[in-house]
Amino acid sequence: MGGYGSSRWSGYIKKPLVEQAELVLDSHQLMQDTVCTVRLTHLLLVPTPDGPWRFQSVNVRREGTRHVVVQWLSHTARVAMQTTPALGGTVRWWFTCPLCQRRCRKLYLLHVDATFGCRRCHNLVYRSAQTAHRHLDAAHYVEQLQRALTRLRRETARLSSNRA
Ligand SMILES: [Zn+2]
Repeated sequence: MGGYGSSRWSGYIKKPLVEQAELVLDSHQLMQDTVCTVRLTHLLLVPTPDGPWRFQSVNVRREGTRHVVVQWLSHTARVAMQTTPALGGTVRWWFTCPLCQRRCRKLYLLHVDATFGCRRCHNLVYRSAQTAHRHLDAAHYVEQLQRALTRLRRETARLSSNRA
């Protein structure tokens, strides 16, 4: 099997998982306090025509005081940053999601040729949330079975009392 339809599980369509993102940028890790130095070097694992897979570095640099520029393969994304006051007179840095313009801590790249976006824009869920969903489904199924069993018992009792 395979394909999109196979990811259906008793009526729910699975959303892509946060854990499946190719690259996650964390604004709190990336920009430290008021100095806001870019601290992380990211690597992206990409397929190549000659070899199986290769690590490609992802270049993140600051541009002025309010933007970072992310470069990977032949792509460039310019992301606006914003701050909120933090303890000790420092600031906390956030990304402005390029897709919805909301403030967000993390940006996700689902595919090397895709666009950075927040969790909401990419419709991402955490693995734990999906597991919880599955438990709910299972509980619902058990409940339905129990109801069917009760109906069956009642019907059996009715039939046997009719016969008597
Ligand atoms: Zn967004």
